[in-house]
Amino acid sequence: MLEAREACWGATGRMDRMEDIVNLPFIPARLISDFVANNEIPCEWKTLEGCHAYYDADMFAQALGLYQILQDADPELSGTVKVITQDSISPSLSDLRVPRAVGAAPLAMSYVFAGHDKVKNVYQDDYLIQRPSGGELMFGGGRQYATDGGVGCSDDSWTSRSAAKYLRNELNHALDLSPSSSEEVKTLREELSRALDPSSSSSKELKASFEWTGIMGFSRDGRPWVGAVPEELGGGKGLWICAGFTGHGMPNATGCAKAVVELMLGKEGEEVDLPSVHRVGRERVERARVGDEVREADLKGFFV
Ligand SMILES: Cc1cc2nc3c(=O)[nH]c(=O)nc-3n(C[C@H](O)[C@H](O)[C@H](O)COP(=O)(O)OP(=O)(O)OC[C@H]3O[C@@H](n4cnc5c(N)ncnc54)[C@H](O)[C@@H]3O)c2cc1C
Repeated sequence: MLEAREACWGATGRMDRMEDIVNLPFIPARLISDFVANNEIPCEWKTLEGCHAYYDADMFAQALGLYQILQDADPELSGTVKVITQDSISPSLSDLRVPRAVGAAPLAMSYVFAGHDKVKNVYQDDYLIQRPSGGELMFGGGRQYATDGGVGCSDDSWTSRSAAKYLRNELNHALDLSPSSSEEVKTLREELSRALDPSSSSSKELKASFEWTGIMGFSRDGRPWVGAVPEELGGGKGLWICAGFTGHGMPNATGCAKAVVELMLGKEGEEVDLPSVHRVGRERVERARVGDEVREADLKGFFV
């Protein structure tokens, strides 16, 4: 393998986009968890419950629409999804720690925060997971604070100071991490004294152990491109593509890589488990060419 740096070094490992689950015939998370188990891969693989917290009524309605599609497409999988509203009890929104607070109590789930400050959080893509080993919180997003939303930047040797500051402050607003038991109160006090940054002017700014950024390849139609690159697109015999995951490569890249290898080996059409929306094709290329460029589409919120 020819590799400029280190494979997949930047990603947080979240694999939970509802749209991917609805649209893909292969269930990528299962593909990877089976691979990890069968090959005894040493890694922090952990299947968690995920909480997508919507702070905006329109976005919540949109998500409910996708949920209905999932119910038809895969009743078994949709049975694992629970819809919690402001009237729900057990769990209630407060039980799920959404919205508001501070701390370090174990989360036991991963989070996506959508629409929690529409003015600032225009890309709606803040997300949180907790490492199973050390318990560190990994909070990602804040792209709106990078110049131009980070679009067009291919230098990941530095981090945007304003995006990093936003993330250090925002977690306390998006999530209620206050303790729910007396044991947690004790742990929380200790954790908080370590996590809150004494040099910050904001009393809620957290101290980060590590901060990093990375490059994400976006495609105009928001989907990866997988297959042979034809001559009229500047390719020709022997040139293949498997790229453009648009910030959601964790759930998609493994299945797509498997598919592109099968295509290289001569399999065709339905023999290859690859959604049609991911295949390179003349019609798709023509549609993409007249569509918005990534920068414009991003400003319109297309990639949310
Ligand atoms: C900070 C961050 C967090 C993310 N978190 C998530 C997440 O939680 N969930 C999710 O689904 N997705 C996440 N993503 C997106 C995910 O990482 C990408 O969608 C996925 O890695 C795309 O896979 P890829 O193989 O297309 O590209 P990459 O993983 O970017 O791989 C491209 C590789 O090519 C190498 N390379 C580049 N140029 C050359 C060259 N000239 N010669 C040789 N090698 C070269 C690079 O070093 C790199 O390793 C995140 C991305 C970032 C940056």
